[in-house]
Amino acid sequence: MAGEASSSDKVKLMADLLRSGAVLTDLSCPACASPLFRLRSGEIWCAQCQKKVVIVKEEEEAKEVETLATLSQTETTIMMKIWEINERLRTEDDPEEIQRLSEVIRVLLENLERIRRIGKRR
Ligand SMILES: [Zn+2]
Repeated sequence: MAGEASSSDKVKLMADLLRSGAVLTDLSCPACASPLFRLRSGEIWCAQCQKKVVIVKEEEEAKEVETLATLSQTETTIMMKIWEINERLRTEDDPEEIQRLSEVIRVLLENLERIRRIGKRR
């Protein structure tokens, strides 16, 4: 009976955590393997063990995801620029300007290629 009571206490505790603004993460506690919560303070908390858990690896992964998001944003920007310049190139008659625009596109394509390589390097 005592065991059942404590398990419903834990459910209540988790509900309290969520109400207080904590979010359930997809991380699990290294000690008891139960899902971990992220408190509003940013700390990772195990409701089962009733203690703070320090996840070192998670921060690195978060950073990597951030880098990739930035990369794909840059990729989109470059592709939009290439498209824009290509539109200008289509209507351009001045050979010098055509030369200049082509050079810009070449550089942009190079950058795009580089970004895609960085994105794949994992
Ligand atoms: Zn735990």
